[in-house]
Amino acid sequence: MKALKLKKRYLTEYLDSLRKYGEVFGPVKKGDKFIYDRLDDLSRLELKMLRTIVPAKKFLVPPRFNTFSFDDKSYHAELENIQPRVIFGVHPCEIHGIMILDKLFTERLPDIYYTERRKKTAIIGLSCVPDDKCFAKSTNTHFVEAGFDLAFNDLGEGEEDYLVWIGSSLGDDLVRYHLDLFDENIKQQDLDKYIKWRRWRDYQYKLEIDMTGMPDIMELSHDLPVWQELGDKCLSCGSCSMVCPTCACYNIIDRMNPAVFQGFRERYWDSCMFKEFALVAGGHNFRESRAARVRLWYTHKLKAFITEFGRPACVGCGRCIDTCVVDINVKTVASALRGTEKTQSGKRKK
Ligand code: SF4
Ligand code: SF4
Repeated sequence: MKALKLKKRYLTEYLDSLRKYGEVFGPVKKGDKFIYDRLDDLSRLELKMLRTIVPAKKFLVPPRFNTFSFDDKSYHAELENIQPRVIFGVHPCEIHGIMILDKLFTERLPDIYYTERRKKTAIIGLSCVPDDKCFAKSTNTHFVEAGFDLAFNDLGEGEEDYLVWIGSSLGDDLVRYHLDLFDENIKQQDLDKYIKWRRWRDYQYKLEIDMTGMPDIMELSHDLPVWQELGDKCLSCGSCSMVCPTCACYNIIDRMNPAVFQGFRERYWDSCMFKEFALVAGGHNFRESRAARVRLWYTHKLKAFITEFGRPACVGCGRCIDTCVVDINVKTVASALRGTEKTQSGKRKK
C-alpha cells in the first residue's frame, strides 16, 4: 500500500476528474440526516457526515433490481446496466462492512451481480470522527488496511493535506486521472502528525461495547426471558436490517407474462425481522415469534458470524442505535445480555 498527499483545496477538482471513470457519488445532507447521492454538483458534498441513513451497500446490493430476463427458450443475465461508479466518503467501519459482504457474496458461491458491481465500483474511504452512537473502536473497524481503492485521511481542521492511501490497482489508476495534484513526498512530520491523530481519534470514542466472549454469552442466553422482553417491544419493521451495512438477506420473485412466455426475476432486500421471512410452503413458520426473530438477528451478528469468520458481523456504525424507535440495538442488547442493564422484569428467570 502506498501513501500520497493531496491538498484539501484540490479535492473538488480531483473528484471532478474521476467522472472520466464513472458517475461520482458521495454523502450529502437530507434534512438533518445524510444520504449517499450522485454528485452532479460537488458543492453538495458533506465531508463532516457522521453516517448516512442507508450504507454504501446499496451500491453493491441494490435494494431492488432485475437479475435476469427469460422466455420459454433461454435467459439473459442483466449485467450490462452495471456501470463504473465512484463512491467517495465511505467511512472505515463501512469499508469493513463491505469486506463482510465480500465474504458472503464472493467466496463460496460467487454472486455474479455483486461481483460485477464490486469490480466496477471504486470505493474511496474518508476518515471520520465518531459521535456518541459510534463504537467502531470496540469492533476494531475504526481503521482500514484493505477493502478500498483509495482512502483519504483528514488529520484535522488546521491541516492542509489529506493523506491518501492507495489500496488497489484501480486506486492506482484513479490517482493517475490527476496525478499532478498529488504529492508523493511523505516526510517525517507527516508520519508524526498521523500517529498523533490516530491517538487523538482513539480517545474520541465515547461508546464502548464489550464484544469479548459474545458467542458464549449468546449461547448461554438462548432460553432466557430477555429475548421475550425484546420481542415484546420489537415492531418487526425491519429498519435495523435495511440500515445495517452487513445485513444482506434478499428475496426473489419471478414476474412473468404467461401470454408471451416472457418474464424477469427480481431480487429485493428482505429482513429476517419480517414474520414471513421463515414461512415455508404448508404454512409452517420457523420463527413465528418476534422474540425468535430478534434473537436470530443478534445470534447472526454476535455469534454465528464470529464462529464462522472469526469476527462479529457488526462494524460498530451505530445505525441500529440511530434507527430503532423502540431502542433495540447492539448497545442495548449487549448490555441486557451482560447484565449491566436490567431487563423489564429486573432479573433473569431460570
Ligand atoms: S429491532 Fe427495532 S428496527 Fe429492528 S425490526 Fe424491531 S423495531 Fe424495527
Ligand atoms: S448491528 Fe448496528 S452497529 Fe452493528 S453494523 Fe449493524 S447497524 Fe451498525
